[in-house]
Amino acid sequence: MKLDVDTLRYLLREDFKVLTAVEMGMTNHEIVPVEVVDRIARLKHGGTFKVLKNLLKHKLVHHDSSKYDGYRLTYLGYDFLAIKSLVNRGVFSSVGRQIGVGKESDIFEVATEDGNIMAMKLHRLGRVSFRAVKSKRDYLRHRRSYNWLYLSRLAALKEYAFMKALGVHGFPVPNAVDRNRHCVIMSLVQGYPLVQVKQLQNPDEIFDRIMSLVVRLAEHGLIHCDFNEFNIMIDDDEKITMIDFPQMVSVSHRNAQMYFDRDVECILKFFSKRFVVNSTGIA
Ligand code: ADP
Ligand code: MG
Repeated sequence: MKLDVDTLRYLLREDFKVLTAVEMGMTNHEIVPVEVVDRIARLKHGGTFKVLKNLLKHKLVHHDSSKYDGYRLTYLGYDFLAIKSLVNRGVFSSVGRQIGVGKESDIFEVATEDGNIMAMKLHRLGRVSFRAVKSKRDYLRHRRSYNWLYLSRLAALKEYAFMKALGVHGFPVPNAVDRNRHCVIMSLVQGYPLVQVKQLQNPDEIFDRIMSLVVRLAEHGLIHCDFNEFNIMIDDDEKITMIDFPQMVSVSHRNAQMYFDRDVECILKFFSKRFVVNSTGIA
């Protein structure tokens, strides 16, 4: 998805007031009736309607008049609210290029005034199923839809909390800097996902280090649940960093054994396919 932050620069206080009003309305409306937006935003005479048109033009809200005249936030609108809050807090001052795209997230570089570059992960839960919702609109008409705003915020909250806790316990993870809504700010990993690496100086050692990471996680009561060559980064000195935590579970989860085995299996499979490994390790 394109994140055109130039638009952000031209949005006025009133635009954000109305955008925030739509967000607030969405806590109990799937589509927020125009009157509700207007009531929350409290702009002078009819101002809300003009602003909504502008937000619609920039794709920050979506208009729906199938049942009544109303609006909901788009992901772009939600992005802007999160980015604006973080910029106001002084966490960063500009958004740069996109460095990653997952099934349920987009990753961008962000920078501070003095040139410190970090990574921004925007969670996009429900992106996949949203298409399904659209195509099955009739079928879903009478059902309460899931709340993607809430799900994405929850994913960011979990990810941030795990990253922070793992960092404190000395695990090789990005430094958790801050979070807002569905957005997590973390240090930028200088490296590549393992999946892009064709050659290693020392595959045995890397394999053992990765395996002992899974084991040490379990000793701390946690299972990654998506531990694979896409979520392990490696730099030029072959230092590894593990990323992507929203789906982690506790070892007391009833499927813990299955998840643990699956994580181990993924790494085993990847290494045996790509590198020649003579492990001395745990597996
Ligand atoms: P998803 O949940 O969508 O898989 P990830 O957290 O795995 O999201 O990130 C997707 C991709 O973005 C990663 O494979 C990696 O290439 C890049 N990426 C994520 N976090 C960072 C980071 N802190 N530094 C550098 N690149 C990152
Ligand atoms: Mg990932």
